[in-house]
Amino acid sequence: MAETIFDVVVVGGGPAGYTCAIRAAQYGVNVALVDANDRLGGTCLLWGCIPTKALLFSAELWDQIHHADRYGIEGVGDAAKLNWKAVLARKDDVITRHTKGLDFLMKKNKITTFKGFGALTGSANGGAHTVEVKGTDGKTQVVKAKKVVLATGSNARMLPGYTADETILTNYEILKIDAVPKSLVVIGSGAVGIEFASIFKSFGSEVTILEALPRIVPVEDEEISKELLRLMKKRGFDINLSVKDTKIEKNKNGALVSYTDQNGKSQTKQAEKVLVAVGRAPRTEGIGLEKTKITTERGFIMTNEWMETVEPGVYAIGDIVGGLPQLAHVGSMAGLIVAARLAGKYARPINRTRIPGCTYCEPQIASVGLSEAKAKELGHTVKIGKFPFVGNSKATILDAHDGFIKVVTDVKFGEILGVHIIGPNATEIIAEAVTAIELEATVEEMMFTIHAHPTVAEALLDAFSSVEGKAVNI
Ligand SMILES: Cc1cc2nc3c(=O)[nH]c(=O)nc-3n(C[C@H](O)[C@H](O)[C@H](O)COP(=O)(O)OP(=O)(O)OC[C@H]3O[C@@H](n4cnc5c(N)ncnc54)[C@H](O)[C@@H]3O)c2cc1C
Repeated sequence: MAETIFDVVVVGGGPAGYTCAIRAAQYGVNVALVDANDRLGGTCLLWGCIPTKALLFSAELWDQIHHADRYGIEGVGDAAKLNWKAVLARKDDVITRHTKGLDFLMKKNKITTFKGFGALTGSANGGAHTVEVKGTDGKTQVVKAKKVVLATGSNARMLPGYTADETILTNYEILKIDAVPKSLVVIGSGAVGIEFASIFKSFGSEVTILEALPRIVPVEDEEISKELLRLMKKRGFDINLSVKDTKIEKNKNGALVSYTDQNGKSQTKQAEKVLVAVGRAPRTEGIGLEKTKITTERGFIMTNEWMETVEPGVYAIGDIVGGLPQLAHVGSMAGLIVAARLAGKYARPINRTRIPGCTYCEPQIASVGLSEAKAKELGHTVKIGKFPFVGNSKATILDAHDGFIKVVTDVKFGEILGVHIIGPNATEIIAEAVTAIELEATVEEMMFTIHAHPTVAEALLDAFSSVEGKAVNI
């Protein structure tokens, strides 16, 4: 029988890989997809975006129930009991439904899937690349394709000299702990650290955050970091900034975390569990890069704007790529771009200033485009608008007045350069700001865009208007 040569083999079935595979198949490309895990979905579906948001939903409900009497519902607050195992089971159910959904989509789109660890054997030979796929049974299969898309994702970084276990956790272990810890130290205050901190604070843990930089959520606009810090302190978090020399010493009650605080004083904190959330390392070991011309920087694969590596016919997408934020929607968009290019269809490269970033803590934060500082650094003459949620009637209905929307614009044409939100539904309403920036809308155009009433999104209308000092509701 003639050997199958696929049009493309995608190595990695996370959001970057499966999105690329599905879209390529929709274009009529003959696709193979290789994944090392027993379930498709990658970090995002199994250990990242989806499980954390399922837990955050339970946490939010738990918080709401505790002040249900404020909304005229009595007799539930104090009577409510937390069943942690059921919280985890519900999270697992959400994951299972979507892994099954992915299996269905593979069949629907006639994508041939291979289970096992894939590695390139070198450059293309006779027009075909070879990926060797090692199964857990030790058997090796060979997959040949005209093009290869690498989408092997990332792993949590650990502090040097430590290994994750039952006390020192990464995002992987913490999603399986059998009880809510009485105390938790979170090292790192990026989105992952802040979201887990928020979840466990809601469920009653005493949460300490240690951040090496001078502010939390350091990639966000400075004013957002400041407001989140204020609101998290109000919620009772112990937050320590500019810490150095963090060390973890395990003991019978968990671990003693020592660090030097911002005043240079040595401090210690005893906790039942320690979460290390200090970033993610690209998963590029053992995938055969050294047998190709592919270049890496600190382990990340370097590509051009079309996600092409320097090895002809080999693309890279998702968390393994250097110079792009490690976000599921960035990986999946890169996958869509590669699929379109493979099929010879229209595509356009990712524009770094049009990528939304969301942190699903309480209150939520979301942003797109340039921060005020970055806009100034790039030479823009900046005009700022700001609207607090206290002026939004839907926020009052939701009992969620904390936070604001900040709009960064260029004074010349009123171009919207950035939108930064902290407050209710921030992660949903940011979509409007992304679209506005994508379509190069001006402040004036947004001031005459009708927003449904009463909605949290209406706060954006006021925020855009506030750039011209014309917010109606404040
Ligand atoms: C706790 C947490 C929360 C997060 N929340 C969000 C969020 O809310 N929003 C957001 O946008 N992003 C979020 N992220 C980031 C997001 O999960 C990643 O950006 C995204 O999963 C990257 O997708 P990917 O396809 O590149 O890689 P991955 O999702 O890591 O998938 C890679 C896949 O490749 C497979 N694989 C690896 N090596 C091989 C090999 N050699 N052969 C075959 N298969 C292989 C793996 O089994 C895996 O299935 C979160 C991350 C974490 C850790």
